[in-house]
Amino acid sequence: MTRLPPVGISQCLLGETVRYDGGHKRDENVLAFLDDHFDWVPVCPEVEVGMGIPREPVQLIDEADNVAQTEGVRMVGERSGRDWTDPMRNYSAQRADALATGRLCGFVFKSGSPSCGLTGVELRDSQGDPTRTGVGLFTEELRRRMPNLPVVEEGELADAAARERFISRVRAHWRLLDRGAKEW
Ligand code: SF4
Repeated sequence: MTRLPPVGISQCLLGETVRYDGGHKRDENVLAFLDDHFDWVPVCPEVEVGMGIPREPVQLIDEADNVAQTEGVRMVGERSGRDWTDPMRNYSAQRADALATGRLCGFVFKSGSPSCGLTGVELRDSQGDPTRTGVGLFTEELRRRMPNLPVVEEGELADAAARERFISRVRAHWRLLDRGAKEW
């Protein structure tokens, strides 16, 4: 059996019904192609942290005037205001460590998600009005632990050239990890 590089993916992109409304976000055009190249490692931070399906949507509240990163950003339920920040940050740190140990070679993130978004995730003030954009809390932790990991959002992969570039970066990362393991 051919060995393929393990690549993480926001689980809803695989067509699994893990979204807050019980739906999914599979993109056949993109994933049917990438299925042949990667050994998917599905991750749904919101389900894994215990929010359940269906669940109340969460949002990111910009507590501090913090322009550098998302420290000072809190994850709360849109209606209840339930604070998920600490559970999500703790879970994300542990999950990211486990993924690094599993020699993950890349990650495909769902855009716009307060957990999984890679760029441009909406942050709001305490009144619910948009302030600026940031990164999802799980993604932030994963990138902090694996800063050299090849990452992409699903929308970018609609472009054939971008797909090829991502595949090349993942393969290069995989070779580096393999070489490191042999030298060790
Ligand atoms: S975007 Fe992330 S947290 Fe939201 S359903 Fe998909 S995998 Fe789960």
